[in-house]
Amino acid sequence: MSFNNLQLIAPLLKALGDTSYTAPTPVQEKSIPVILQKRDVLVCAQTGTGKTASFALPLLQLLSIQETTKRTNCQALILVPTRELALQVAESFTIYGKYLSLKHLAIFGGVSQHSQVKALRQKVDVLIATPGRLLDLLEQRCLSLSDIQYLVLDEADRMLDMGFVNDVRKILSRLSDQRQTILFSATMPPQIQQLTNTLLNQPVKIAVTPPATTVERIQQLLYYTEKRHKPSLLLQLLKDEGMQTVLVFSRTKHGADRITQNLTSAGIKAAAIHGNKSQAARQTALLNFKKGTIKVLVATDIAARGIDIDQMGHVINYELPNEPETYVHRIGRTGRAGKNGVAISFCDYEEKLYLRDIQKLISKTIPVVKDHAFDVPLMHGNDFKQPGSLQILHQSGRSGKRKGRLFMQQM
Ligand code: AMP
Repeated sequence: MSFNNLQLIAPLLKALGDTSYTAPTPVQEKSIPVILQKRDVLVCAQTGTGKTASFALPLLQLLSIQETTKRTNCQALILVPTRELALQVAESFTIYGKYLSLKHLAIFGGVSQHSQVKALRQKVDVLIATPGRLLDLLEQRCLSLSDIQYLVLDEADRMLDMGFVNDVRKILSRLSDQRQTILFSATMPPQIQQLTNTLLNQPVKIAVTPPATTVERIQQLLYYTEKRHKPSLLLQLLKDEGMQTVLVFSRTKHGADRITQNLTSAGIKAAAIHGNKSQAARQTALLNFKKGTIKVLVATDIAARGIDIDQMGHVINYELPNEPETYVHRIGRTGRAGKNGVAISFCDYEEKLYLRDIQKLISKTIPVVKDHAFDVPLMHGNDFKQPGSLQILHQSGRSGKRKGRLFMQQM
């Protein structure tokens, strides 16, 4: 299949010709024709599958072929969970729309709204927004969504995980029913299914990989260790020369700062990105990481969402996530655009229940690396029980899920 078979207009084909893409990815092949037919679509696809182009290309086409006289302000709205993703989606619209005269704008929180409000006074065809900032601007009457004909909810599962559900609902209530809705989600938890039932009209369902299937070309490895040994284990692994671009996940912002400090004191170039960092600091860290000036980026789940770095070789789960779906999102940061990747997870006593949930979700036992310097051989078996006082802790907080809620991700 080539892009020429997808009935795309010449300016889009020309823009694609300027990229390195040789053929559409499976999600593009399946989504582009149905979006062009103006059907509602539910796409279950992970980041890294080329999902952005699968909605950006047909939307640009639908908008550009509308008679110019019928064009109103802000006809397409793309809702995304994070500022980074907003910027990346905007960048994709710039690339694919370079031979069209459509205008797009990204609005997101964490920066002054002044320039965004100013930009909204000009004509905007496609608005790419995070829910919080969009709602703020709507409430201040800086824009109206009454002309929206196309709505995309990108990474809808993350948007709901991050507590945006009420903001999303408020935004949806301001949209006309006469619109085409496209929803992308890497996983399909019940909340997303409920949302799709109320939001989508007889949607075409597209799944490029079954929900939550881990990307096959990612090598997954597990290191059992004690919590106190994690800093040393990380330093030891980073000595491997094969580790050039490493994304380390931390459950909390403070944890991310602590890990970064440890790495920096050991002479490893590292930076943290999380919600307490300014947008400028996050962008600088990302840029330095992309350039290779820093080797390790330490991120919280929310901040890392949407990071699109093709050459990312390794992802390290310094702590296992308490929501198994998050594991799938995290490891999907590597192995992108057809490349191989390695996802390493540290697991301490208290995380064994999370591990059980993860392995259940991915229907796979993650291979264990044995006999490393900080190994806890006792933990290798499935019937492992935590020793001494830890056992009691474990019993009082039985469910991994319930216990996990205490660690709610902070932005
Ligand atoms: P996404 O899933 O939209 O985040 O895209 C992941 C990466 O795949 C991005 O770096 C895109 O530039 C790249 N990409 C998108 N479509 C294609 C394609 N048809 N061929 C090769 N790479 C692509």
